[in-house]
Amino acid sequence: MDCLTISTFRSLEQQALAQRNYSEIYRHELAHKQTAGSLAGPIVIEKNAQGIPVSGHVDIKMPALNPENPEETIKHADKVVKSALAPSDPSGQDFKVASKARAVKNQAQSLLNNKRLDYYA
Ligand SMILES: [Zn+2]
Repeated sequence: MDCLTISTFRSLEQQALAQRNYSEIYRHELAHKQTAGSLAGPIVIEKNAQGIPVSGHVDIKMPALNPENPEETIKHADKVVKSALAPSDPSGQDFKVASKARAVKNQAQSLLNNKRLDYYA
């Protein structure tokens, strides 16, 4: 093999790797995005210096506790948890997002329970 062939081979191999990584990352991010619907931002794929996709992300709007409307907060949090765990291979960051959303949901749930108690008192 002369040098040219080797470098052509490498570049083909790199293209194949780039393609495979891109599809894998894209599939993962798409699962988040589709489940989150309007709560999700655009899919961002990050590449290394060789142009090989190495990671990706989708911003998902985290729920904020709304004392006026805990039901809405719970709905929002449920959607975020579902979306964070939507890919078949959730990352550590995905699990963190899910548990953060669950914490907000719990707060909203206890607000809601207190409200009901007030109402029936
Ligand atoms: Zn993810």
